Amino acid sequence: MRQYKLAIIKGDGIGPEIIDEAIKVLDAVSSHENFELSYSDFLMGGAAIDVFGEPLPEETVQGCLKADAILFGAIGGEKWDTLPREKRPETGLLNLRKALGVFANLRPVSVYDELVNASTLKPEVLKGVDMMVVRELTGGIYFGQPRAKEAERAYNTMVYTKEEIVRIAKVAFESAMKRRKQVCSVDKANVLEVSQLWRETVEEVAKEYPEVSLSHMYVDNAAMQMIRNPKQFDVVLTGNIFGDILSDEASMISGSIGLLPSASVGGQVGLFEPIHGSAPDITGQGIANPIATILSAAMMLRFALGEESAASRIEKAVQQVLKEGYRTKDLSAYEAKEVCSTSEIGSIIASY
Ligand code: ATP
Ligand code: MG
Repeated sequence: MRQYKLAIIKGDGIGPEIIDEAIKVLDAVSSHENFELSYSDFLMGGAAIDVFGEPLPEETVQGCLKADAILFGAIGGEKWDTLPREKRPETGLLNLRKALGVFANLRPVSVYDELVNASTLKPEVLKGVDMMVVRELTGGIYFGQPRAKEAERAYNTMVYTKEEIVRIAKVAFESAMKRRKQVCSVDKANVLEVSQLWRETVEEVAKEYPEVSLSHMYVDNAAMQMIRNPKQFDVVLTGNIFGDILSDEASMISGSIGLLPSASVGGQVGLFEPIHGSAPDITGQGIANPIATILSAAMMLRFALGEESAASRIEKAVQQVLKEGYRTKDLSAYEAKEVCSTSEIGSIIASY
């Protein structure tokens, strides 16, 4: 029997509530698909500060590095907001990403037919949207040197090495091979030299994937096209800062932040988490939507464990549950047959 070790970081706020539902679903799917999962819990963020006095204890880093994959809920909350930046919960997550070396952030965005009214965009624009934003996560202007803030002048540097571009481009093309075989690379090559190298290098990588069609788009146009006609995109490949902005823009297409999963991969161990935060305003009420976390667990099965059939089983279950009209409170305005608690909807998804 195939066996996998998972590191689980529940975190703060609604983190524990939504992770519990994802584990429920993972247990169900692993017994159907004949593999075994073992879970080890680790602390990060506020929960770690309370016990160890720091947001990312060494034992969490070591535990994560030994795992086959990491499933993470969310961190942060008012209680820790007054701490200095390097001691805050969020610093724990940034440092974990660094320790793992995860350079590729994958965010799928799709629209469920049943929820087209949940978005502010028109139904005819939305129906059938299914894209994957692939963002470079450890290079570009957020990390480039030199950087400084002087009294009358400040600067940052957007740097990409060819090697960094090749490895993120490969993630995008590999992803496209499993999808509709289209990559749209987003840059600003009409203005930035770094984008010119980006574009040339992506062209070179494309030669290794003759079945995939490659297009290029300037980032300003891409921002507009994503709202005008999001259906045109399959895989969107882009650098750190453009990807930061475009992936948040794209996330609004689907209607609720509680639906969207993400994966950070390319390093020693992959990290899978919902895109939303710890939602302190609804913590402990049993109303958080666990779907983003459940879909993150599906991405984990696909990208880290190679359990494609289990991953698509979860995705189909989520689709079916929405089709049948089960909704958590955040989606209750949209053709709900029944408004469910966090744990009720988790159990229904697990039962499919
Ligand atoms: P962060 O700074 O960690 O990104 P944030 O405070 O900006 O977090 P979230 O914690 O993501 O944002 O919450 C934003 C809003 O969305 C809140 O009103 C929260 O209740 C709601 N929300 C977030 N996640 C969910 C969820 N899974 N289900 C229902 N509502 C959610
Ligand atoms: Mg927050």
